[in-house]
Amino acid sequence: MATLEIKDLHASVTTEEGAKEILKGVNLTIKSGETHAIMGPNGSGKSTLSYAIAGHPKYEVTSGEVLLDGENVLEMSVDERARAGLFLAMQYPVEVPGVSMSNFLRTAATAVRGEAPKLRHWVKEVKEEMGKLEISHEFAERSVNEGFSGGEKKRHEILQLALLKPKFAILDETDSGLDVDALRIVSEGVNQYKASSEVGVMLITHYTRILRHITPDFVHVFAGGKIVESGGKELADELEENGYVKYVGKPEPAS
Ligand code: ADP
Ligand code: MG
Ligand code: MG
Repeated sequence: MATLEIKDLHASVTTEEGAKEILKGVNLTIKSGETHAIMGPNGSGKSTLSYAIAGHPKYEVTSGEVLLDGENVLEMSVDERARAGLFLAMQYPVEVPGVSMSNFLRTAATAVRGEAPKLRHWVKEVKEEMGKLEISHEFAERSVNEGFSGGEKKRHEILQLALLKPKFAILDETDSGLDVDALRIVSEGVNQYKASSEVGVMLITHYTRILRHITPDFVHVFAGGKIVESGGKELADELEENGYVKYVGKPEPAS
């Protein structure tokens, strides 16, 4: 049983005009086996939250804490965070020309597991997971994400999830840009990993449709850089009906 705690997290992004505060006091605790949906309008800071936890250099945590079983995640290097069991599937996965998917995955697995996976076993494992995600075998030799369609990138993010076996997974808009079939395949991939492990999931999404496939235990509304309401999965139905209007600050009336 593991716990990921986010306490009064404030973070800024470095822009050309200087630092701009995006996260304004995020509080959230995720335990092993729980799935928390984070839902909010565009630009509310959801991706910033995922980057701040993962340790992206552009996002500076100015105050607050992120603890994994009481250990200070913010003091860890990006590699240490991965070894500690944190995984981030990015909203916009990066392309790495010249590095094959199979090399990339084996290097990542070696870093996370602390030793290189035995080759024969590894090849079998990758093949099996690729099969489940309906990824064609030729992708193994293609450069990481280069020329992949949006849906192909998302399937590869879930392939990484299945192979790296994190304790906590942050899935940032894994549903965006997926057609109905790809959404089902990707969701099944997440559900299989959930069933085979005690993973805690932070499922960031703008839309409710992925929640019909991956059932959240908790739903949090994220607006203006923090969580403004929390509830069970019925909260998602309410958002489906009414949108985020109620949570987005209205402009000041002219005096
Ligand atoms: P969401 O994921 O909820 O759509 P983001 O975290 O991507 O929101 O963005 C929150 C706010 O921070 C937006 O106003 C966005 O323009 C700004 N922002 C995020 N990253 C950067 C960046 N690298 N440079 C400048 N502004 C950024
Ligand atoms: Mg966005
Ligand atoms: Mg985002």
